[in-house]
Amino acid sequence: MTSPQATASFDPTITSEVSKMLDRILAQPATPEDMSIVQEQLGRYPRGMVAVGARCACGTPLVTITRPLLEGGIPFPTTCYLTSPEAVKAVSRLEADGMMKEFNAMLAEDEELRKQYEHAHEYYLAFRHELANRLGDSEEHIVGISAGGLPVRVKCLHALLGQTLVMGSGINPIGDMVLERIRGEFDPQTCRCAIQESTQEESAHTDK
Ligand SMILES: [Zn+2]
Repeated sequence: MTSPQATASFDPTITSEVSKMLDRILAQPATPEDMSIVQEQLGRYPRGMVAVGARCACGTPLVTITRPLLEGGIPFPTTCYLTSPEAVKAVSRLEADGMMKEFNAMLAEDEELRKQYEHAHEYYLAFRHELANRLGDSEEHIVGISAGGLPVRVKCLHALLGQTLVMGSGINPIGDMVLERIRGEFDPQTCRCAIQESTQEESAHTDK
């Protein structure tokens, strides 16, 4: 077992890949408009949000990148946080339909899937570690903790989809499967934000 204080060390290939992802993501810090859209999506101010990790085809934020240590010294492990109301709703329905049980059973049976899933955990941690370095945030309270039940269980499909949307397909196999299953309702390439707005706020937004 590694001690919680141990210096994080990751596969150099993973470090290099997540570093490129962060170069791209942090090149465009969250704008006041992004912040206000996300605030509306979440119904609360997105504390610690430093950038948008994935956007809808229309530009609306789908996933936030949140710093590892919030103001006041609060550790925040869920670096890639799913905010799209449409995606959140579609994923919640999957969870209600018992998909987590199914995914956990797949993990238990499929060694290759298990390896990929552990790999996704490494990516998540390396990504956050790189972000923490760049921002000067301490990760001392969240060393080894990623999100969604990684690396051995499936606990939150929202968090896993968040990783898939930020890092692209081929990194988190369960997140990728979640995206495939909800494509009929949510797809980052197909904007359905107008529908979302009009159902949420009956009167205000009637334009597409
Ligand atoms: Zn959209």
